[in-house]
Amino acid sequence: MSHHHQAVASPDAHPASVRVGSQRVSHPDRVIDPSTGLTKLDLVRYYESVAELMLPHLQGRPVAQVRGPQGVRGPLFFQRHDAHADDEEAPLKISSADALLAAAQLNVIEFHTGNARFRTADKPDRIVFDLDPGEGAAWSQMQEGARLVRSMLQELGLQAWLKTSGGKGLHVVVPIASRWPADSLRAFSKAVVDHLAKTLPQRFVAKSGPRNRVGKIFIDYLRNGSAATTVAAFSARARPGLGVSIPVAWEQLPELTSGAHWTVQTAGDHLAVEKVDPWADYAGSRQSLGVAAKTLGLKFAPRSRSRA
Ligand code: ATP
Ligand code: MN
Repeated sequence: MSHHHQAVASPDAHPASVRVGSQRVSHPDRVIDPSTGLTKLDLVRYYESVAELMLPHLQGRPVAQVRGPQGVRGPLFFQRHDAHADDEEAPLKISSADALLAAAQLNVIEFHTGNARFRTADKPDRIVFDLDPGEGAAWSQMQEGARLVRSMLQELGLQAWLKTSGGKGLHVVVPIASRWPADSLRAFSKAVVDHLAKTLPQRFVAKSGPRNRVGKIFIDYLRNGSAATTVAAFSARARPGLGVSIPVAWEQLPELTSGAHWTVQTAGDHLAVEKVDPWADYAGSRQSLGVAAKTLGLKFAPRSRSRA
């Protein structure tokens, strides 16, 4: 992958920097994942190739990033604030391909986002169900678990979208109207997860802690707390193999082999042959939780109480 680039600073086999789009990438040949030999340039090129698809998932939301200056085996730094802003607490924003590549040049490997947009910071517009396999849980259990979560949500009148996490698990995402505070959404997702764990206790567990999870699927409802973030669609993961989080159609679920089914190396080929965006209807879907909350026995604040 990295052998056809054009040297910028020196003509030898180890150029000091390589241009990718608007960015000058330093240390292009630095291996960031020894398990595959993938380099910093491979990762920057990956982000260049998916920038158009990825940006809608980053724009308008607070971004948290995982930097790995020495690659996936070195120390990793989780950052949620813009180090260059005057205000130390200023959230990170990524709104262009240039900004995305600039971050990758600064050794950012992963990009995460919050559930609320800046415009409506106290009213998230999505709920995330993070499905993690406990020790000994087979991948087929994860596939079945994701289907069950989808079915439960469908029974509640909600459409859900699926993505690989790029790591061990799957993320089920429910886009909603930006109408309820994070506390309500956390209570809502807790009710969904508690119900699943109560009715299907051999498959799901709502309690954290590795012991509780053996052979089961843990669903982390805390992903819906006000400060929580989740890895963005198309982000790479700072783990051996450089898996990537990729949106998938529910019909594709049986063909998946793991949460890292696609990687920085293989995602390009997959995306090139994919004819229909499996998340085509996701963006415009602002679902109401009113009926679902009522079905779960939750009392949501009425709409009129919103300050917006
Ligand atoms: P997997 O499928 O392997 O579980 P995942 O993305 O679902 O992958 P993690 O990689 O464990 O799960 O991510 C943990 C979550 O916590 C992420 O959503 C991330 O936004 C957040 N996170 C990760 N590191 C930190 C940190 N140092 N501080 C605060 N939040 C973090
Ligand atoms: Mn997870």
